[in-house]
Amino acid sequence: MQKDARFWKTSGDKKVQCHLCPHNCNIKDDGLGICGVRKNENGKLYTLIYGSCSSVAADPIEKKPLYHFYPGTNAFSLGTVGCNFKCEHCQNYSIATASPEYFYIREIMPEQAVELAREQGCQGIAWTYNEPTIWHEYSFDSAKLAKKAGLYTVYVSNGYINEEPLKDIAPFLDAMNVDVKAFNEGFYKKICKARLEPVLQTCERAKELNIHLEVTYLVIPGYNDSIDEVRQFCSWVVEKLGSSTPVHFSRFHPDYKMTNVSITPIETLLKIYNIAKETGILYPYLGNVPHGGYENTMCPSCGNLCIERYGYSISLNGIKDGKCVKCGNTIPIVTDKYKK
Ligand code: SF4
Repeated sequence: MQKDARFWKTSGDKKVQCHLCPHNCNIKDDGLGICGVRKNENGKLYTLIYGSCSSVAADPIEKKPLYHFYPGTNAFSLGTVGCNFKCEHCQNYSIATASPEYFYIREIMPEQAVELAREQGCQGIAWTYNEPTIWHEYSFDSAKLAKKAGLYTVYVSNGYINEEPLKDIAPFLDAMNVDVKAFNEGFYKKICKARLEPVLQTCERAKELNIHLEVTYLVIPGYNDSIDEVRQFCSWVVEKLGSSTPVHFSRFHPDYKMTNVSITPIETLLKIYNIAKETGILYPYLGNVPHGGYENTMCPSCGNLCIERYGYSISLNGIKDGKCVKCGNTIPIVTDKYKK
């Protein structure tokens, strides 16, 4: 539904500028922003998707993926339509490119989202599937209520959000998984129609704002899989986010406008996994690679298997009170003991 938008200013002559994400769109009367869900009507900016859900499911938190955040729990997951990126390999393009009149939309108000999360036995709410930043008015109201109700809150995001709205929601946002889609501006410009630098800034800000952060890097053959680029990315993680930040290197499957690119070879992913470890990342993971133990959390100190994952089935036998049961090393896992 339509509601007043936040984070914009008038630029005269019935024109507005939206400041929600780094596109900072200038929108003329009757026009839409790049995301397709914020509209200038008579010199005022509105969100067209307040409470409009295209996708609703109770998902394992591991699916987001978040591996160091309430392992083994379910997140009530909500998505809407639109996106501020135009990725050629988007896996959710049917909703990311859909308009607010999308046929399947179901309205779920913030109070209802909290109720449904509880009814379905979820411990938290995740805004996911498409980009939650562009849903700010709704996710902000919902996150506030969710925190009051004792639920955790999660963004699965491309990280393209300005500083002010990120700071706005930070007190009510427990965790983020941010996609760093490549470590070169050329890729962002050509494939996503966006910029890398603001994404990196969001990751650093999330850390500063005490939001639990995990990063996903989808490895696309020939686009972002060079050893140099991956090494630079890993060094940036270690230097700016810290070596304990979990990093998910995910396997690419051809989709949308990138069906001419092949699936990521396992050998490439294994090479990258080793580079990540060499560079100092303590918790690298491989996504969409079944078997081989690359989804498991190993103790960086003694090598003990702390958390075993097999698909979405989890065993926490190797960890107790946040410590490795074998050597007592602290494994940074957010659980109920952590309260925001
Ligand atoms: S949120 Fe949408 S309208 Fe606002 S700046 Fe970003 S793309 Fe443009």
